[in-house]
Amino acid sequence: MGRRKKIVQECETLMDKPENIRNIAIAAHVDHGKTTLTDNLLAGAGMIADEGEATKLMMDTEEDEQERGITIDAANVSMTHEYEDTNHLINLIDTPGHVDFGGDVTRAMRAVDGALVVVDAVEGAMPQTETVLRQALREGVKPTLFINKVDRLISELQEGPEEMQERLLAVIRDVNELIRGMTEEMDDIDDWTVSVEDGTVGFGSALYKWGVSMPSMQRTGMDFGEIMELERADKRQELHERTPLSDVVLDMVCEHFPNPIDAQPMRVPRIWRGDDESELAEDMRLVDENGEVVLMVTDIGIDPHAGEIAAGRVFSGTLEKGQELYVSGTAGKNRVQSVGIYMGGEREEVEKVPAGNIAAVTGLKDAIAGSTVSSVEMTPFESIEHISEPVITKS
Ligand code: GDP
Repeated sequence: MGRRKKIVQECETLMDKPENIRNIAIAAHVDHGKTTLTDNLLAGAGMIADEGEATKLMMDTEEDEQERGITIDAANVSMTHEYEDTNHLINLIDTPGHVDFGGDVTRAMRAVDGALVVVDAVEGAMPQTETVLRQALREGVKPTLFINKVDRLISELQEGPEEMQERLLAVIRDVNELIRGMTEEMDDIDDWTVSVEDGTVGFGSALYKWGVSMPSMQRTGMDFGEIMELERADKRQELHERTPLSDVVLDMVCEHFPNPIDAQPMRVPRIWRGDDESELAEDMRLVDENGEVVLMVTDIGIDPHAGEIAAGRVFSGTLEKGQELYVSGTAGKNRVQSVGIYMGGEREEVEKVPAGNIAAVTGLKDAIAGSTVSSVEMTPFESIEHISEPVITKS
């Protein structure tokens, strides 16, 4: 069996175990390393070859795909990761890094329950860090922090342990100040600040593929001093092998981001103003795969062969080919022509996509990004408000 087929099968077996699913986004200020980190995760999950910066898609044995040298530039991708002897399905939604795409970032946040915020250790928190945090928190999406480019502090800026610690703690403090400021008024969010001790902060180098966190240090037995020595001695391959970034980050994702069953009871009241006593509300709270179908469309893509593809989060029920579904804001119903999941930029058709997952659907010709698609007529989800960048005006 081809490698790609195997991964798809693995994803399919996990799709109806919502407790093992994590729907996540990676968000960052431009150039802080989101793309490089994403490539690491895909390589770590066995989706692409781990061969330096020239990562090529290796998932298919079909020649033409390899010849075409498709590289990962995916809007959405599903991968699997084993954590504490349990296999997890991680659905990663890409968020555009550029300032102009504020709206798209907010839309992506609607589909996920956790946001990994990447901050450059040298630059620290920047305006877009604030924007993506605000977008996440407003949607009830839990943040964790990855401080990237730590190699630069060690090798380029030649910082000593104390100087470096101070700098890293300052980044964490700044991010926590933002989180605290934004969540103070929200009574459904307890304490979503991040901390090294809790394991909600990771550090490392996406470029050289090593990472570290409190739990990873306990697991590998490597402390920060040893990591600094290896980085300084240019032994980055050894660092990568002994404490791979993808393990640090994917473990953090599995441990600290809520699964759909934990997330939806809290998220649904934030994003949906329908009757919370109704059966539909219960279906969504329970992530009930046998309930009515509710899909929130977050993105419309174009496939040269299949035409328009609606991507979004299935909050309840199970999406299947042939279903006739209502599309909010339009009169008639649309017929689902196919359902699928994303595998490294490619859509892969599957039999069905149950609640708690991200689906790629064809046939929803009336849907737009932001549509609520459902098997019964319902109050649509709240419209997605765009948060734009802080505007600097000249006086
Ligand atoms: P994005 O805009 O957030 O997606 O950032 P990219 O992943 O494209 O990275 C921006 C630049 O930073 C590229 O030149 C990367 O090679 C570089 N970069 C990313 N991660 C690291 C890192 O950990 N260390 C160093 N030194 N450079 C990095």
